[in-house]
Order: sequence, then structure tokens, then C-alpha cells
Amino acid sequence: MNIILLGPPGAGKGTQAKRLEQAFAIPQLSTGDMLRAAVKSGSDLGQQAKRVMDAGELMPDDLMVQMIEDRIQQPDCANGFILDGFPRTTEQARALDEMLARRGTKLDHVIELAVDEEALVERITGRYSCANCGAGYHDKYQTPKTEGVCDACGSTEFKRREDDNEDTVRARLKAYHDQTAPILPYYRDQGILQKVDGMADIDEVTRQIQAIVEGKR
Ligand code: AMP
Repeated sequence: MNIILLGPPGAGKGTQAKRLEQAFAIPQLSTGDMLRAAVKSGSDLGQQAKRVMDAGELMPDDLMVQMIEDRIQQPDCANGFILDGFPRTTEQARALDEMLARRGTKLDHVIELAVDEEALVERITGRYSCANCGAGYHDKYQTPKTEGVCDACGSTEFKRREDDNEDTVRARLKAYHDQTAPILPYYRDQGILQKVDGMADIDEVTRQIQAIVEGKR
């Protein structure tokens, strides 16, 4: 089962991808996470990624396509994957179709998380995660049950993404509009695009996505 979650930054792609990963036992492939790991490692790619991410811009298509092509060949992708943050341009979408065709497979579902964009800046600038287990939180909408202690693992260390500040978020939203939103008609024309209400509560969004993946919608 090959699934893409599409939507602007802050739409909930990462949160939902993690839930689907558990429900369907296929891995979440987040190009943003891969780039953040590269930044941490200090590699040449990481240094380039840091500049691009801090500016809220997009990495070059050829690099990102190669990154995903390498990743989907790993054994844990044998039964499929959930793409979170890729493709982000129509060029990437076309390259993905071609690489899947070469491997004798194809996309099963492209799911758009539709959100009210006014809410996104607040959603993104308030989010943070556990530095130990990655569980996601929000200053206003999802605080830990005990202040300063992760519900999932008990850690007291938390972190925020450097690109989750207001200026960078606005640049990321612009990149979404200019470069990523044009992918939607590409998949609509293929008849595989389905939309869910990304403003509904997290469990409801998960239910809607699962219904699509299980063919009930
Ligand atoms: P994300 O974690 O998906 O919000 O991605 C964080 C940042 O990584 C983005 O703002 C881009 O700078 C970069 N990035 C992630 N995925 C891609 C991609 N598929 N193509 C280009 N840049 C990407």
C-alpha cells in the first residue's frame, strides 16, 4: 500500500503518518526528518539543507528524488510506505510515478489534508515535541498531562523545530502555494486524490484517512 499525505505545513501530515504507520505496519517516509538528520550529522547535504530550511524554501528536486528512490528500496518498504513531505513539486510527483512504474508498483492513495490556512501559523509556531521519543505537543492545543513531562515516555526534555518561527512559516506557506499546491490537479486528473477535513480533531482525521485506505470511502 503506497500512500501520500499532502497538505500545507502544519496540516497534520506527520501526526497522521505516524498513526498510519502503526495501523498498517508500513513506514512513514518523511523527507523533512531525513533532512533534519542530515543537518544533525553536519554533512555537506546537511549544511545545504540547513540554509534552505531556515529560509523556508525547497531543496532541489534531483536531490529529493534520489533520497526517496534510495529509501523505497529498503526492505521495510516491501509492503509499501506513507510519504510525508514528498512530493513537493510536480517534477517530484512525475519522478515518483516513473520510479514506481519501474518497480512494477504504483500509488494507491493520495490524501489531501484540507485546512483553514489562517489557523496554520498558530498551529505551527506553538508545536514542540519530546526530545527523547518524538511525541508531539502544542502550547495551546495539546499540553502534556503533567507540565514539563512527556506523557509517552516521562522525559523532561522537549524541542522545537528551528523553522517553526513565524517568518519561516510564512515563507514555507508561500512555497506550498507556489510549488506544491499545483500537484493537487496532477493527482486529481489521475483519479486518486481524496480529501479529508484536516481541521477536524486528530482522531476524526485518522478515522477518515483509515476509511479511505480500507476502501470504505
Ligand atoms: P517538513 O518537515 O516536511 O515540513 O520539511 C521541512 C523542510 O525540509 C521544508 O520546508 C523544505 O525546506 C525541506 N523539504 C522537505 N521535503 C522536501 C521535498 N520533498 N522537496 C524539497 N524540500 C523539502
